[in-house]
Amino acid sequence: MNSASEPAAQTLAPYAALDERSRGRRFTEPKPQFRTEYQRDRDRIIHSNAFRRLVYKTQVFVNHEGDLYRTRVTHSIEVAQIGRTVARALRVNETLTEAISLAHDLGHTPFGHAGQEALNDCMRPYGGFEHNLQSLRVVDELEERYAAFPGLNLTFECREGILKHCSARVAQELGEIGQRFLEHRQPGLEAQIANLADEIAYNNHDVDDGIRAGLVDLQQLCDMRLFRRQYDAVTAEHPGLGERRLVHEIIRRMINDVVVDLIRSSEARIAEARPVSIEDVRLHSQPLIALGEAALDEHRELMRFLREHVYRHYKVLRMTAKAQRVVKELFEAFMATPRLMPPEDQAAAAQAESTRGTDGRARVVADYIAGMTDRYAILEHQRMFDPAERT
Ligand code: MG
Repeated sequence: MNSASEPAAQTLAPYAALDERSRGRRFTEPKPQFRTEYQRDRDRIIHSNAFRRLVYKTQVFVNHEGDLYRTRVTHSIEVAQIGRTVARALRVNETLTEAISLAHDLGHTPFGHAGQEALNDCMRPYGGFEHNLQSLRVVDELEERYAAFPGLNLTFECREGILKHCSARVAQELGEIGQRFLEHRQPGLEAQIANLADEIAYNNHDVDDGIRAGLVDLQQLCDMRLFRRQYDAVTAEHPGLGERRLVHEIIRRMINDVVVDLIRSSEARIAEARPVSIEDVRLHSQPLIALGEAALDEHRELMRFLREHVYRHYKVLRMTAKAQRVVKELFEAFMATPRLMPPEDQAAAAQAESTRGTDGRARVVADYIAGMTDRYAILEHQRMFDPAERT
């Protein structure tokens, strides 16, 4: 049986990521029987432990604050949905875009940005902690599922999309996957799409979650041009609409408009650059997937609004402070006494320390903490610091 091909393979643009031109996997494997290489990537991501943990990890709101807030898994699905629309419209590889979107947050710590900053601080003396790099570590090394190789053994194209950012220092140690950060080159269009789809998804759903949490109201939001325009349009077309439907209708139109702009602007850039292969796309110094100027301006206004009114709201900051304390205290305790970690993590820490010293020990502690869900981190903190709690 020949390997399957993308149903629309003939219609994919020449600059799309194509199975037959993939740079391949780190460990050579036989071709999948019924799937494309990128389908296999996506399926491995969905079956991974790290993906299931995203159910109990959050970005802005902590998992126990309410059942309707986005978690990292619903966020990742929204990113994939937006990414797939754009990929299909631009005739690039929809499945690869989906795979990258679903994997992009696998390396995130518990408690979203707060947890990540705390772990960054803790790891500063030991080589640092970068969440994109951690996502790559998860798929390259930390997942233990397959007999023949560590990690998920994903294609180069998927891995380059997962490693969205990376410092020059780290890039030097990564070989071919880090090369583009040193040469200021781009990843394939599928990776560029997933990156923008991520921003579009969280900017819009954080507005929705912010309203739901009572951190912002419609009046404040109407200070933003983007929101105001849709508010005026919806209330003119549907006077007397209840708030819940009004908010959803506004946000869905905001997402639609920005996605349409992204497709149109990117089409124009691609037409101008005329890439004939994914290698051509990679050689550009600037991304070909980008918003037009006006949309970018509004998009930035939305980000500023969220920073000011949602991410820095005192209720969010209180939770952030608590979360950072939990991460820091766990890190310090495990770093000082690795024997307080479960046996397999202790063994990994001892092994890493024997070859790389204290940096090695710290990396294993960071891996252990980064892998925790919000609620597991809270529970582990209670077990470690609350004498009344069972260990
Ligand atoms: Mg994200």
